[in-house]
Parts: sequence; C-alpha cells; structure tokens
Amino acid sequence: MNIVLFGPPGAGKGTQAKLICEKYFLNHLSTGDLLRKESSKETSLGMQIKKTINDGKLVSNETTIELIKQFINENKNNKKGFLFDGFPRNKKQAELLDHLMESINEKILCVILLNVNEDVLKERIMNRSATEGRSDDNLETLSKRLHTYSSETEPLIEYYSSQNLVRKVHGTGEISDINQGISSYIEASLNA
Ligand code: ATP
Ligand code: MG
Repeated sequence: MNIVLFGPPGAGKGTQAKLICEKYFLNHLSTGDLLRKESSKETSLGMQIKKTINDGKLVSNETTIELIKQFINENKNNKKGFLFDGFPRNKKQAELLDHLMESINEKILCVILLNVNEDVLKERIMNRSATEGRSDDNLETLSKRLHTYSSETEPLIEYYSSQNLVRKVHGTGEISDINQGISSYIEASLNA
C-alpha cells in the first residue's frame, strides 16, 4: 500500500509520516530529508541543492527524481509499501510517480491532505527554527516556500481529486487526533 501525504510547509507531514509508517509498516520516503542529506555533501550538486532549498524553490526534477528512484529501488522489497512525504510537488513529479507505481505493479491508495492555515504555519516554522536550526526555516524563505507551494504544488490537489484520491484532514489540534483522522481515511480506503 502506498500513500501520499500532502500539505504546505509546516503542516506536520514529517510528524504524521513517522506515526503512519510505524502503524502500517511503510517506508518513509521524504524528499526533503533525502535532499538535505545530499546537500550536506561538499559536492557541487550538494551546494546547488542547498542554495535552492534556502531560496524556497523546488530542486530540479532531475535531481529529485533520481533520489526517489534510488530510494524506491533500495526499499521496494522492504515493508508494505511507501509513504511519500513532500513528493510529488509538481505535475511532472506526479506523472512520474504514476509511472513508477505502474512499473512495480502498485498504485496510490489515497492522498492525505493536511490542511493548516498560514498563520499557524508561520508560527510552527518559527518555533521549529529555534529547535532544529534548519537553514530554510526563517520568515523570508518561508514566504517563498509558501508561494512555491501555492503556485506549483497545490494544483496537484486537482490532479488527484480527478482520480478521487484526496482525503482532507484538519492539521491543527492534538497530534494523536490528527493521526486518528488520517488512520480512519486509510482504513476506509483499504476497505473500499
Ligand atoms: P515541512 O517538512 O516543514 O512540512 P516542507 O514541506 O517545506 O516543510 P521539506 O519537504 O523538507 O519541507 O522540503 C524542504 C525543501 O526541499 C523544499 O522547500 C524544496 O526546496 C526541497 N524539496 C523537497 N521535496 C522536493 C520535491 N519533491 N521536489 C523539489 N524540491 C523538493
Ligand atoms: Mg518535512
């Protein structure tokens, strides 16, 4: 079973992804984590990725897709499937994911959309910047990330709605309540 976790920066995708992966025995595929790991290398690609992330833009599809393919290949026989966190982020990536799923005889069970309003997102990211120290967690980069989300990523809701895959969950409140909401959608999709 394969699930896409969707939502703006700071929506809580990473937090919920960990819980869902433990509960349903899935591989956690976070493109943000994969890209940050790559960007910590002192190579020209690493430095280029770092600059793009700090600019609040999307890293090139070429680089992102290469990392995705590698991760899927290394993990496809582990666990019960994949939880995609932060991927896809544009139409090209969504189409690629469809092809990749097809090529391993799999499909997307559902797309969970975590809804959180912008004020809360800003507050969360600023709190996180104090604890995690991510170089893209500052107000300037965040406003660019939000802009990138609304122009390139949000249109995918339409892409997946037309396949009847989108399930909306309120991303505010207790972590465990949000997780409950996500779980009930997953189970409803499994039993459909
Ligand atoms: P959060 O993890 O706080 O919910 P986020 O979704 O913005 O916020 P990440 O998913 O970690 O954070 O992404 C951080 C940055 O990594 C993005 O702003 C972008 O530059 C890059 N990135 C992550 N995923 C992709 C992707 N699928 N395609 C292109 N760039 C990506
Ligand atoms: Mg994340």
